[in-house]
Amino acid sequence: MTASSIPWLDQGYPHIWLPYAQMKTAARPLPVRSTQGCCIELADGRTLIDGIASWWTACHGYNHPHIADAVRAQLARMPHVMFGGLVHEPALSLARRLCGLLGPGLDRVFFTESGSVSVEVAMKMAMQYWANRGEPGRRRVVAFRGGYHGDTFGTMAVCDPTIGMHAAFRGLQPETETPELPRDDEGEALLDQFLRRQEGQVAALLVEPLVQGAAGMRMHAPEVLRRLRRLADRHGILLIFDEIFTGFGRTGTLFAFEQAGIRPDIVTLSKALTGGTLPLAATVASESVFEAFWSDDPGHALMHGPTYMGNALGCAAAHASLDLFESEPRLAQVAAIEGQLCEGLAACRDLPCVHEVRVMGAIGVVELKWVPDRTLLCQAFLDAGVWVRPLGKSVYLTPAFIMPADQLQRLLQALQSVLARVTPAFFPGRDAGGKDVA
Ligand SMILES: *Cc1c(COP(=O)(O)O)cnc(C)c1O
Repeated sequence: MTASSIPWLDQGYPHIWLPYAQMKTAARPLPVRSTQGCCIELADGRTLIDGIASWWTACHGYNHPHIADAVRAQLARMPHVMFGGLVHEPALSLARRLCGLLGPGLDRVFFTESGSVSVEVAMKMAMQYWANRGEPGRRRVVAFRGGYHGDTFGTMAVCDPTIGMHAAFRGLQPETETPELPRDDEGEALLDQFLRRQEGQVAALLVEPLVQGAAGMRMHAPEVLRRLRRLADRHGILLIFDEIFTGFGRTGTLFAFEQAGIRPDIVTLSKALTGGTLPLAATVASESVFEAFWSDDPGHALMHGPTYMGNALGCAAAHASLDLFESEPRLAQVAAIEGQLCEGLAACRDLPCVHEVRVMGAIGVVELKWVPDRTLLCQAFLDAGVWVRPLGKSVYLTPAFIMPADQLQRLLQALQSVLARVTPAFFPGRDAGGKDVA
């Protein structure tokens, strides 16, 4: 990296390892000085409108004073205490509050510090639920094509293998088949057959409800979730919804599963749980799942316990974030954003590089015909003053729910003008004839 005249950057960069990046060839990361509202201020003084709310976390924008006050007050009282043998008010009242929001049938909360780990815990719960009930052969978690559930070893095994995020680790674990989501009667029949072939081996179905996020923002109808509930019931297996991305309003309802009128047996939450401030995640199970662990046999206990489990600062931040969902019209704001995204992205539909436009809640997606060169595309967005990063073929907006209409308009205009100006050089996988060679 060339010298930047920012000492902390030049001195620290040789010692940092960045995520999902070939550091030799990737564009250099942008030094950030501060955040405010829906904007990121760079060290050189430039301000970018954040189109993706820091990986979908900062739903109230940045630096919300109510969350800051709550975390400060908790910091003065008790930042953290171990959760083994000890409990505290912020964690227990948050567990109760989350169960109240999720509604009956989701009754027990296990706190962790990251989304991936909350999915690991959900999978351990599902497998041990069956083992404790005398069916130790049910160890498989069936996840779906297009799904993403985390980067740890257990969750890598339930990600769609074709998205290629974890190719270096292929073969370390049994390759699990990822069937298609049951989008229609035929799909439901196929999945039914798939599950029948594995009778007695499947512990749970695992899905991101309504929107499969990290694999490219693929959306499905609520009916798909009803089909999954039906199949899970028919085969007597558990249904896990990974709401790490969709939870807390992103799809237009507080939780995505509300739109399907059915309930999962286990749900995972993280990203927007603390409004994008502190790392915290939760795995919430039904009382009937929990009952399988309630026993005189110590071997029936759930053996998991992250050091920072139930972190009091994180719980205080989550409470403050939930306060904001109560005191401010977040879901109405999401509905307004949805309308503006529909209108604003419609103009992208006919651009030559665009395959499809999709909108759900505060998620707007422009899927391109080819995988773009991320460096070139991100640079064009930066030049337009916005922070937007493509995911595979998809360019998407997941703004903070408090984003003012004029800022969202600037994001939409930037998206449209950049996509209208892209040249073939933006699509290295596309040959001169315009065919997809990737
Ligand atoms: C981000 C995400 C995860 C992983 O969460 P981390 O906190 O990054 O470990 C898992 N599932 C879904 C649906 C996600 O969006």
